[in-house]
Amino acid sequence: MDISFYGAAREVTGSCNLLSDGKVKILVDCGAFQGGDFLENRNEHTFAFDPKELTAVMVTHSHLDHVGRLPLLVKGGFSGYFYATPPTVDLTRLILLDALEVMTYNSRKFGTPILYSEIDINNVMAQFKTVEYHEEQIIKTVSGQEIKFKFYDAGHIFGSAFIEINLSGKKIIFSGDVGNAEVPILRETEKLPNDVDVVVCESTYGDRLHNVQNKRQEVIEKIIKSAIDRGGVLMIPAFSVERTQELLYNLNDLIQHKKLLPRDIPIFLDSPLSIDATEVFRRYPKYYDEEAIKFLQAENDLFEFPGLRVCYNKEESKKINSTPGVKIIIAGAGMMNGGRIMHHALRYLSDFRNTLFFVGYQANNTLGRRILEGESPVDIFGEKISVRCKIEAVSILSAHADQKKILEWLNNSGHHPKKIFLNHGESQACDVLRDKLFSEFQIDVTVAEYEIPLEV
Ligand SMILES: [Zn+2]
Repeated sequence: MDISFYGAAREVTGSCNLLSDGKVKILVDCGAFQGGDFLENRNEHTFAFDPKELTAVMVTHSHLDHVGRLPLLVKGGFSGYFYATPPTVDLTRLILLDALEVMTYNSRKFGTPILYSEIDINNVMAQFKTVEYHEEQIIKTVSGQEIKFKFYDAGHIFGSAFIEINLSGKKIIFSGDVGNAEVPILRETEKLPNDVDVVVCESTYGDRLHNVQNKRQEVIEKIIKSAIDRGGVLMIPAFSVERTQELLYNLNDLIQHKKLLPRDIPIFLDSPLSIDATEVFRRYPKYYDEEAIKFLQAENDLFEFPGLRVCYNKEESKKINSTPGVKIIIAGAGMMNGGRIMHHALRYLSDFRNTLFFVGYQANNTLGRRILEGESPVDIFGEKISVRCKIEAVSILSAHADQKKILEWLNNSGHHPKKIFLNHGESQACDVLRDKLFSEFQIDVTVAEYEIPLEV
């Protein structure tokens, strides 16, 4: 039995892991490769395996780098089930439709290919089967083989899971992405089960520790207050799923509960995808953590508060420009590689009174990363724009566990797994984490390489 990696091997995108015992073939995630441009041309390549031969596909969570190639599996002849939690299913639909919109735009503008259609996305949705956390699932193959599997809360984004698969007498865990500690709305990452043979573990922050000196809410409050004091515009490029909802929840708490921010400053949520994703959060309060459930009981809505203005269509978005004075704009894309944030950046980056506040990981080659590294002027829609506004960035808001949390999660009070395969991290992060794990646990740790099977 082995696991092969068709993405996220010594890089952070394109998650696609194939567990095979020769007869049963289970794919965990099938995400898109994402470089500086929205999608890379590697997404166009045909799979090195035959989608028709897959027994099942399991989806850890709805980020594009974990679901972006699902429609290509259906196009390639996969006719079985996709398994995921209910929020992941709903969010995946939004993410894939958004990807299609961006691909269509890019195709018109740069002649890049559109990899799948709305029909393909609908076919994916029709093949989804929802799975609740902790409920043991059994797949019986025609040859009489049994595969048992279970989803656990990964605490990474809404609906995210790590997955336990029992096949041919071995227990294998796919971490998906492991969540950061103390994230609002989400429950904490669950403990790893005992007696695990292999864990395929992400390593995004395998070589780093988050600064946990300051509490998340306090950090947000401080940055927003200072941006308001400067008398300008505060731009927050935010990922539409999860980060935006966490921010809205934090803002709601600071304004309504704690009364620490002024109630009359307009806060624009300028992203149709964020607005739709927020509806998915509202649909499933049963997955909230205790604090969010209490908040919901007290306030009736986690994401609605004085000052918030949602901008769904383009006209509403354009009106933001004509709103004078201090304002907060939350808009995608989170790494400034497209989306409505680009229009605001064009308008507001060059004014020293304004603030640009990064709340997420900025990948190599993205505009966000280049601004963070001090590039100025930057090119936006063919114009050279000087970056004179204040730049703020915090890693405490990351959706990923840091090295310390990954070590604690894998250790599980001494019951660490027999083998660990590391994926979903740049080379340096994987290598540092491998050496650290080996010195802590003295076990077999291997960094996944593209298309090279590792024996379970
Ligand atoms: Zn993720």
